[in-house]
Amino acid sequence: MTQFPFSAIVAMDDMRLALILNAISPAIGGVLVRGEKGTAKSTAVRALTAVLPPVEVVAGCRFSCSPTTPDPQCPDGPHPAGAGGQPRPTRLVELPVGATEDRLTGSLDVGRALTEGVTSFQPGLLAAAHRGVLYVDEVNLLHDHLVDLLLDAAALGTSYVERDGVSVQHAARFLLVGTMNPEEGELRPQLLDRFGLTVEAVAPRDPATRAEVVRRRIAFDADPAAFTARFADDEAHIAASIVAARARLASIVVDDSLLEVIAAVCASFGVDGLRADIVIARAAAAHAAWRGASAVTREDVRAAAQLALPHRRRRNPFDAPGLDEKQLDDALGEASEDPDDEPDPQPPDPGPDGTPPPTDGQAPADGQAPADGQAPADGQAPADGQAPAWDPAHGARESVAPTGATFRARRLEVPGKGKGATGRRSRAYTDGGRTVGARPPQSVLRDLHATATLMASAPHQVRRGRTGPGLVLDRADLRERRREGRESNLVLFLVDASGSMAARRRMEAVKGAVLSLLLDAYQRRDKVGLVCFRGASAQLLLPPTSSVDAAARRLDTMPTGGQTPLTAGLTEAHATLRRERLRDPQRRPLLVVVTDGRHTAGGDPRAAALRLRHDGVASVVVDCESGPVRLRLADALAQALGGEYLSLDDLGDLSVAALAGSVRAYRREMVA
Ligand SMILES: [Zn+2]
Repeated sequence: MTQFPFSAIVAMDDMRLALILNAISPAIGGVLVRGEKGTAKSTAVRALTAVLPPVEVVAGCRFSCSPTTPDPQCPDGPHPAGAGGQPRPTRLVELPVGATEDRLTGSLDVGRALTEGVTSFQPGLLAAAHRGVLYVDEVNLLHDHLVDLLLDAAALGTSYVERDGVSVQHAARFLLVGTMNPEEGELRPQLLDRFGLTVEAVAPRDPATRAEVVRRRIAFDADPAAFTARFADDEAHIAASIVAARARLASIVVDDSLLEVIAAVCASFGVDGLRADIVIARAAAAHAAWRGASAVTREDVRAAAQLALPHRRRRNPFDAPGLDEKQLDDALGEASEDPDDEPDPQPPDPGPDGTPPPTDGQAPADGQAPADGQAPADGQAPADGQAPAWDPAHGARESVAPTGATFRARRLEVPGKGKGATGRRSRAYTDGGRTVGARPPQSVLRDLHATATLMASAPHQVRRGRTGPGLVLDRADLRERRREGRESNLVLFLVDASGSMAARRRMEAVKGAVLSLLLDAYQRRDKVGLVCFRGASAQLLLPPTSSVDAAARRLDTMPTGGQTPLTAGLTEAHATLRRERLRDPQRRPLLVVVTDGRHTAGGDPRAAALRLRHDGVASVVVDCESGPVRLRLADALAQALGGEYLSLDDLGDLSVAALAGSVRAYRREMVA
């Protein structure tokens, strides 16, 4: 498949520069690209390998050993000295978010080691990415245990695989590139810090630039070969410049006085630890090499700081991304000759004809990404917090109720046992957790249950002709552990936001209760989604996401008023769950319906409830009915859904002392 040429990418200068600096100096530690959908982040990453020089590898080595410096631990080695090499293009290896551990690290066949006495290792993606690029799209959605494996390999430059005493290791040094949409959840701080540089990808605002993006995309799609040919010279020029810069890098020194400037800059932005200083020094040297210079200047430091600091400075969750330019200039000191001068992110020489036109304000600090684009989909609703009036005849008055007090919610869970990602909600068969039994291996044996294996082999020893000490093991004897732990789930909230709820001033309490469940979901590592129904229809206010922040904001601004289309709500929730099942089939959903059970618009909710039940959706109905006379409609709904019934008051885990702790932990992690 023809790739879109790297040199044909319009705008995104920060991103291209960050990738190039890492290509020159992989020690910088990779690039994280944050940005909304539709900013061509992935296109730019995939285009990179075309301008990276080929690598020389030992013929036949599955671990990409270099002929001059082969990996002494290489499972395919040892390679004889002077083994012939052959060039191959630099690889881009994509790590899918749902990959298994075996797929990432490779799989070790413990069964063969036990029964045949040979170490058999099938390389994984870490081996494939050695000396290339490892790309994780939606890196923020990567499972925690894969993140840990990735970080270990990245830090050590080596991947270790160990199963039951049999171990293999091989070199795994790669340029780590991640892309993410912050709307879908933030990255763990440890992983964030691991990326050397970050860039914000935003769609260009300047009309001429936007038009050029579209023009090139159309031309490429119409005739990829002709389009690529048009940029062949530019591609070759960038590739040659990277090779030249790599050669130059070794001789570039960062002056002592500049190291002090770097330290001052890091101190000014309140950066913890020394990693930022080191990354800036390396990126500044690579920037100088890319410019064709022989020494690092303040401008190189400035360019490096703009890429290395935004994710490391101390900040609050809702701060705008990017760096304060003025603060950066002040920290760089008086010697910065022309502080108003925009840094030139693209060196002048490697931009031949066909170089993208300059875009409008490159500076990441001008707050282009709206810090909070979270207005509800139909964001009207003045939030003046006055008591709403409910008029059944017109049913159109609406308001936004404030969010009431939160409490520590009891754990709601999906019945049965799942196989989803590790978390803290429902029971599940997991990779970790306690051993609950043994079973023959499902594919390659990974987690040996030694006792069960010995017991399985014992009855056959005489027949197998055992003479001396030691057992005669057969493949059929092998047993692996069956473990049980907890998984995370998708918790989809379906909230009645109609006027009847508002009339009784219940919405404040209801929002408090839902926020409590959201805080709980955050701690249990769930995905959450929010559907509300009011007026004539239901609305997906928040598609399933790991961002509890986004959910809390949507909830806070959710307007209330109008009729009660409960059936439409159930139908919308069902459609959302079906879509999500295609995307993430292992993650079991829990539908939490927050309602008093009334419906005043649309058909009978019973049929919609039965459809959800027949589809196997686990649900909980939280009854919001209050007052002396109760219809207990929510109870009937729970029965139709085959779900659990709780009143709003049942929702709290009454050990309220833990509440303050849970809110504090949440805040701390968001600020960290
Ligand atoms: Zn090798």
